[in-house]
Amino acid sequence: MSKLAEHIKKLDGHLKRFREGGIANLIDGKDVRSASSFETRSPVDESLICDVSKGNAGDIDLAAKAAKAAFPAWAAMSGEARKKILHKIADLIVERAEEIALCECWDTGQAYRFMAKAALRGAENFRYFADLAPSARDGQSLPTAQHMNVTSRSPIGPVGIITPWNTPFMLSTWKIAPALAAGCTVVHKPAEFSPLTARILAEIAHQAGLPAGVWNLVNGMGEDAGKALTEHRDIKAIAFVGESRTGSMIMKQGADTLKRVHFELGGKNPVVVFDDADLDRTLDAAIFMIYSLNGERCTSSSRLLIQENIADEFETKLTARVNNIKVGHPLDPATEIGPLIHKVHFDKVVDYVEIGKKDGAKLAAGGERIGDQGWFVQPTLFTHATPKMRISQEEVFGPFLTSIRFKDEEEALAIANDVEYGLTGYVWTNDLTRALRFSNALEAGMIWVNSENVRHLPTPFGGVKNSGIGRDGADWSFEFYMEQKNVAFALGQHKMQRLGA
Ligand code: NAD
Repeated sequence: MSKLAEHIKKLDGHLKRFREGGIANLIDGKDVRSASSFETRSPVDESLICDVSKGNAGDIDLAAKAAKAAFPAWAAMSGEARKKILHKIADLIVERAEEIALCECWDTGQAYRFMAKAALRGAENFRYFADLAPSARDGQSLPTAQHMNVTSRSPIGPVGIITPWNTPFMLSTWKIAPALAAGCTVVHKPAEFSPLTARILAEIAHQAGLPAGVWNLVNGMGEDAGKALTEHRDIKAIAFVGESRTGSMIMKQGADTLKRVHFELGGKNPVVVFDDADLDRTLDAAIFMIYSLNGERCTSSSRLLIQENIADEFETKLTARVNNIKVGHPLDPATEIGPLIHKVHFDKVVDYVEIGKKDGAKLAAGGERIGDQGWFVQPTLFTHATPKMRISQEEVFGPFLTSIRFKDEEEALAIANDVEYGLTGYVWTNDLTRALRFSNALEAGMIWVNSENVRHLPTPFGGVKNSGIGRDGADWSFEFYMEQKNVAFALGQHKMQRLGA
């Protein structure tokens, strides 16, 4: 049996219970079905996967109340005890990693070769924050001549976590693990287009011994369940990953209850290639960073800025490689690109092909739909684009690369910074001083020099400009999920100001 056939057979087994019972919300440790439901379909062939509870404001209220009720005991539990539970969650993710990866591929269209790793990465996220749980409350002593200031941290309370459909499993773990390690309780609203692995993850958490109400899952639409979550009084903060314009809506929705927000939003990230770079490694990295994960990746290098004296040679090699990328069934381990998540997104990506052509860029590769079933699109490359074209400015969020030529460093920097986003940047040069100078001036939250994106959890993750607010990773995550308290102890009888004496 081929590996693809084996994967399809195994997936069929895993999906059986979803087909029969649908996906319910998980509130206060119990299945709760919403009054109505919606269908989730696979982007591979548009077939029905199952029905999913369509959470409404009432379901969110139940979940928020459960999270509020569970908060005092969870927050008071020792960090060591929380650490054990979070490690157990990681163990169970590893045990079910294949099931998670297969379901994720079928639900999102992402290729198995990447999702198998993403599932394990989800376990690592739990392990990393599990180990930090015992020290999450630690503070500092900040003495003055008259006072000893002692700081400490405490969890902010129940939080809402709203996640998108691209690599939804991994992204959910990245948000939920630090929240739980900090001592917060959680209401998770996953993306309506990819509900399978969010349900598996919440079940795993309960199997691992997480007390009821600490982690609540409510499925549904953004404008309904998502909105209600951002407006709920008992929810103290919202961690959101998604589009910049949704972030803006959430900020407005949360204004009445003064929500603390953490946003990881869109990007239009440059990969800047100077003529002294190692071009073979640059080519590998540039291709990987835009075409892996179907290009549905916030950190993708979607703008190639290439120095004009090497552009012809580089783009010729690039075109040949792009034409060679294997598009296919996401469960086939040989597949490099699967189908896009859904029709509306597919239409958006294909529309940008027409926009690029109309604006005068050169379509060097791809641009067409593949087959007539599922949302498969050829990996696409536009060359000879100019910086103000829409394909140079707007986030396409697909396997779609725009190449722009530059003369010198000054021009490269001006083009790189001339977008509304600032998530990541990739700089390729063997001139160390230039690499430092350029990175220093590049408007982005994360920059890699002579490397593709390699995430190291203790480093800060997040964007500037319209790409986000706040940082994830290590203590940066705890700064969001926790409150700081300062207690000042007088060291003696210092001189006071006396009014009315
Ligand atoms: P989206 O903004 O459409 O949806 C994300 C989530 O928000 C979904 O769960 C959705 O139901 C919910 N939502 C929608 N409207 C809402 C509202 N009014 N109130 C509350 N919740 C609402 O994004 P998407 O299309 O699912 O994801 C793709 C986007 O996510 C891209 O722009 C991508 O760059 C971004 N992203 C960013 C990062 C990052 O780390 N910066 C990571 C992954 C994805």
